[in-house]
Amino acid sequence: MKNPVSHSSAALVLFSGGQDSATCLAWALDHFDRVETIGFAYGQIHAVEMDARLRVRDAMRAIRAGWAERLGGDHVVDLSGYGAVAESALTADRAIEIGESGLPTTFVPGRNLVFLTVASALAWRRGMAVLVGGMCETDYSGYPDCRRETIDAQERALSLGLDTPITIETPLMHLSKAQTWALAGELGGDALIHLIREDTHTCYRGDRSHRHDWGYGCGTCPACELRARGWQEWQAGRA
Ligand code: ZN
Repeated sequence: MKNPVSHSSAALVLFSGGQDSATCLAWALDHFDRVETIGFAYGQIHAVEMDARLRVRDAMRAIRAGWAERLGGDHVVDLSGYGAVAESALTADRAIEIGESGLPTTFVPGRNLVFLTVASALAWRRGMAVLVGGMCETDYSGYPDCRRETIDAQERALSLGLDTPITIETPLMHLSKAQTWALAGELGGDALIHLIREDTHTCYRGDRSHRHDWGYGCGTCPACELRARGWQEWQAGRA
């Protein structure tokens, strides 16, 4: 999994405090000498993830030797104005279902495009040329901005617009959720699996009151279902 080209440099991880971005943070700590994180407050009702991200960041330092030294600052950007414009079932009181557009009502239009653009501005100021995001087109819930084709186009737009090469690494792009659990196990062993189960947050409804083998959540929203199914497939594959 090593990427020799970019190992001795710096990366900015889009870090929400969920399973995918926690795995991306571990991946970045394994691949880069300096890693910073960025999170976005856009009015999401699962704001508990903003608490989760601080716990996960703290605990991540102890997973592997050297990770504490590599993990640099955290940046939280208030994008509530964007959240209000892009209102969806994640930010407003609306049913989670397939909408008239054929996309789930949890689709927040332009979310990854906005996040990556804002992250690139911070990266540019911080002298970092690599962004890391947990976009995944395998189990992607039908979100068109999670496709690598979208990411490739934005990588090119950012590189042109900032007049410096920007790379967007998406280590989960072609992994199933079971493979994402497996990757976390490879990167950080049982300690990272434990951390992801206990402290990361994925549930769209922000539920922290129901504990499952795979972590906390309502167990019925699409995010919980994906996470649970991936866990079960991974466990079945290990048995
Ligand atoms: Zn849920």
